[in-house]
Amino acid sequence: MIDLHTHTDESDGSYSPARLVAEAKAIGLEALGICDHDNMAGYDLAVPIAREAGLELVCGIELSTKYRGKSVHLLGYFLHQPPAPEFRSWLGQMQDSRRDRNRRMVERLRGFGMEITIAEVEARGRRQAGRPHFAALLVEKGYAATVQQAFDEYLDEAARGYVQRLEPTLEEAIGRILKAGGLPSLAHPVRLLNSHRASLDAMLREFCDMGLKALEVYHYDHSPAQADEFRVLADRYGLAVTGGSDFHGDTKPSVRLGWSQQGTQRIPREVLDRLR
Ligand SMILES: [Zn+2]
Ligand SMILES: [Zn+2]
Repeated sequence: MIDLHTHTDESDGSYSPARLVAEAKAIGLEALGICDHDNMAGYDLAVPIAREAGLELVCGIELSTKYRGKSVHLLGYFLHQPPAPEFRSWLGQMQDSRRDRNRRMVERLRGFGMEITIAEVEARGRRQAGRPHFAALLVEKGYAATVQQAFDEYLDEAARGYVQRLEPTLEEAIGRILKAGGLPSLAHPVRLLNSHRASLDAMLREFCDMGLKALEVYHYDHSPAQADEFRVLADRYGLAVTGGSDFHGDTKPSVRLGWSQQGTQRIPREVLDRLR
């Protein structure tokens, strides 16, 4: 059993890389893929720990991209060699743009009379502060009653405190992963069904033309019936199958490490063997 989609506290998960590796060993996983958002710091930290623990570690990333103005998550797996330095420096630019956006969002919220500082936001977000940390701060300081309200009133894309950040298009992100020697896989396709009003079938045809190579069939948010449907689509377009829980620790406590399909299915080892 394996899990190819997990997050550490180097992005929005709550487990440190060491704790995640220990947990993966404890539940008997044979391989673990760390796919933090837009950075590889968690994977880098986990490499020696996993080696020591005798756990196979898969180098991954989850990129936030835009397709027709809406968000699409793209996974990249570096199965045969680490990504080229050029790819890492491109990730660095994404991090810089996130930091710059955060500074501008603090200014905007201060304009509404909120006494918050960038240092307070960054203290809550460690290496990768983002909107969830703004939300926590707004609740702490009494500017919003709940995290949900903070998003609805200030932080959502349509809300008055929102400031855009630089995000690559899906096509650019696929190209970057391919050029860096990686395998691009469309993450949790179920979310596209909800956010984009087009058929997944038609979208996948377009994504394949962009160079997409795989589809995340196993995922915690997929029902068994949806997963079957996605498997048929993967076959139709000659896409490889990837899978993971999308474990975030205490950030998303309902998601169990090593499980997919709403907790009904494990992810078999052969998924990784086929990818390779
Ligand atoms: Zn995602
Ligand atoms: Zn994820």
